[in-house]
Amino acid sequence: MWRDWPANLRRHLFEPLFYARNGSPRLSYWKEVEKTQYFSREALEELQWERLGQLLEFIYDKNPYYRQLLKSRGLTPQMIRSPEDMRKLPILTKRDVRQNSDLMLSDGYDKSRLHQFKTGGSTGKSLELYITDECSEKRNAVARRHDRWSGWEPCDPIGALWGNPHRPQTLKEKIIDRLVQPTIFLDTMELTDDSVRQFVREWERVRPSLLFGHAHSIYMFAVYLKKLGVGHLKPRGILSTSMMLLPSERAVIEEVFDQKVFDRYGCEEVSLIGAECEQHQGMHLNIEHLFVEFVKEDDSPASAGEPGRIIVTDLMNYAMPFVRYQVEDVGVPSDRTCACGRGLPLMEEVVGRVADFLIKKDGTRVAGISLIENTLTAIQGITQMQIVQESMERIRLRIVEEKDIPESSVLELKTYFEKIFEGMTIEIEKVREIKPEASGKYRFSICKVH
Ligand SMILES: [Zn+2]
Repeated sequence: MWRDWPANLRRHLFEPLFYARNGSPRLSYWKEVEKTQYFSREALEELQWERLGQLLEFIYDKNPYYRQLLKSRGLTPQMIRSPEDMRKLPILTKRDVRQNSDLMLSDGYDKSRLHQFKTGGSTGKSLELYITDECSEKRNAVARRHDRWSGWEPCDPIGALWGNPHRPQTLKEKIIDRLVQPTIFLDTMELTDDSVRQFVREWERVRPSLLFGHAHSIYMFAVYLKKLGVGHLKPRGILSTSMMLLPSERAVIEEVFDQKVFDRYGCEEVSLIGAECEQHQGMHLNIEHLFVEFVKEDDSPASAGEPGRIIVTDLMNYAMPFVRYQVEDVGVPSDRTCACGRGLPLMEEVVGRVADFLIKKDGTRVAGISLIENTLTAIQGITQMQIVQESMERIRLRIVEEKDIPESSVLELKTYFEKIFEGMTIEIEKVREIKPEASGKYRFSICKVH
């Protein structure tokens, strides 16, 4: 079979040929970041700081948005001499990006020669973004480094769980799939017993060494496998991406595959932010490419162990620079060093990525993800739930029940929410399934109040 090309042949012959023919520097970027990950923390921070200085010089000279912003505040790049000085620069919000997208494009960059893409994002906010080929290759090189942490080696077959996957169409794409990177897909927009069975048959033939997908999709896949009594899929690595991996879901996945999950965090705007290594002691931050800050409500820096909003400066995107960009997620910085020997700093956890915060009558915000976690693990009979806050008066709980759910569970759920959201009406809507969004992403909670 064509898919049985030995991985070594793909890895050592076809892949280098493919990249050389396309003039792609990805492999040399990758070799570089394979080395820098083992630099000492000090050496990495020095490298990061040098890159940040270059970026600040650049935006002051060449970027209309930042030139105006810095000048209006009487700032020059020379005034940013320490990480603390970065706080002199304002935080960039999604709204700022949307309102200034043309100004944010640097002088000398032609839109038609850049990669253009739109984000959907877990917050449902769409942004138009531009990056150069070089930036795109560097992002892919870092992702490849982190993919390898899971035990996967380049060109080993991948089993991907994805919504509306792009399967090879053109001759070029088919050649890449056959000779460079074989990938099989399970479409998470159509998860049924049959589609899972079909994917399992394809898996047996291709034998992927990496299982890759959104955290919740991997969980759902594991649940299906359990239900169907399939216990023999043993990828070398499981890589969960794009959304928060709930501890309860991680436990199910690890039980079904008898394999640890490698969780990763990032966003479309700046690509990969952090990833777990084989020690699973938190996520290593990608500081060769990013300057990452954690800030509290009053914009002061969060200390180690303290949650803070994640603010990222992309050191690689010169076409449309993102400086102090608020991703709209919360993370917990760490001062621990990892036993793996890598100098990249750690982040303890990410909170709130896949679910909106809900708002109580007194203005308190409540993480939807925690509500889901608390109720799903504690109340019998509910397999899936989505919380929709329609207004400051009404919350709708869409639930998928197991067979024969006791009525007491529904009451328990209702009481739990009524207690937290005092004075609001809690409605229960029983549904057969809760579908992911068009992108394949799944939202645990939706807040329509802004
Ligand atoms: Zn590590």
